Amino acid sequence: MTNTLLVLGSANADLVVEVGRRPAGGETVLGGDTVVLPGGKGANTAVAAARVGASVALVGAVGGDGYGSLLRESLESSGVDTSLVKTSSRPTGIAYITVTPDGENSIVVSPGANADVASSDVDALSFDGAQVLTCSLEVPLETVIHAIDVASKAGVRTVLNLSPVAELPASTLAQLDTLIVNEHEAAELVSDWRHLLRLGPKTAIVTLGSRGVAVVVPAGVTEVPGIKVDEVVDTTGAGDAFAGAFSARLAEGDRVVVAAEYAVKVAALSVTKAGAQPSYPTAAEVSSLAA
Ligand code: ADP
Repeated sequence: MTNTLLVLGSANADLVVEVGRRPAGGETVLGGDTVVLPGGKGANTAVAAARVGASVALVGAVGGDGYGSLLRESLESSGVDTSLVKTSSRPTGIAYITVTPDGENSIVVSPGANADVASSDVDALSFDGAQVLTCSLEVPLETVIHAIDVASKAGVRTVLNLSPVAELPASTLAQLDTLIVNEHEAAELVSDWRHLLRLGPKTAIVTLGSRGVAVVVPAGVTEVPGIKVDEVVDTTGAGDAFAGAFSARLAEGDRVVVAAEYAVKVAALSVTKAGAQPSYPTAAEVSSLAA
């Protein structure tokens, strides 16, 4: 089957532990039981897209260890094609997350296998039938730059979730169809997000938490309001849910604002459940929200 959406990005095991307080240097504190969750921006984005019905493959890497199997299983059970996820000799990427009672996270990311996602992997790809390539930045920057170049030259639409923020060549930004950033990332790039198109992309989307998103096109800004939810349980991975669902709709031929309206619903549903990937809704759940 041809995948209309390709997602290039990371796959990490999130190891989450609750602690009373963060240890100082040289100190040991005891925490709760470790919870292991499938994560990583690329894997989250691909799962969000697959859940709402996209035909999507993840381009990435995991290690030949138990965490790699956990990630492959999570991806496959959501319908993501993992044939382009290679098994590296390095360990699977891990995010070590400590959560304190105030709800604040401290995170150390060990990229491991994600650092092995290379330009040669992009050269081995067939973009035949692909409508959209969506990238995020927990894999090597040069690989992302190369992928955007190859995809845009092949006539594939390119989406970049510039998270975490990194400096990109102007030529890469100019090859983007849609740049997605949250408010904090936008502030690192430009003093006023209404000016994001000056960086080069054709369109830009700023995610504004519970307020929804702003879609910036040359003609102006369209605000898509957030969906009010009864209870916010966990906002982890909301941005990835948005990027995945947006890309899924774009690959189906939706216009940018229409795709953003759909993705705002998906992201809102994702904050009503714990975790990132386990919280992503199906297309049926999204339609019942609309009803
Ligand atoms: P990130 O997760 O990258 O920091 P945001 O916090 O902006 O990004 O969240 C991404 C999207 O998720 C928002 O644009 C919005 O559509 C949705 N979202 C986030 N928080 C909420 C919330 N409390 N209620 C409803 N939707 C939310």
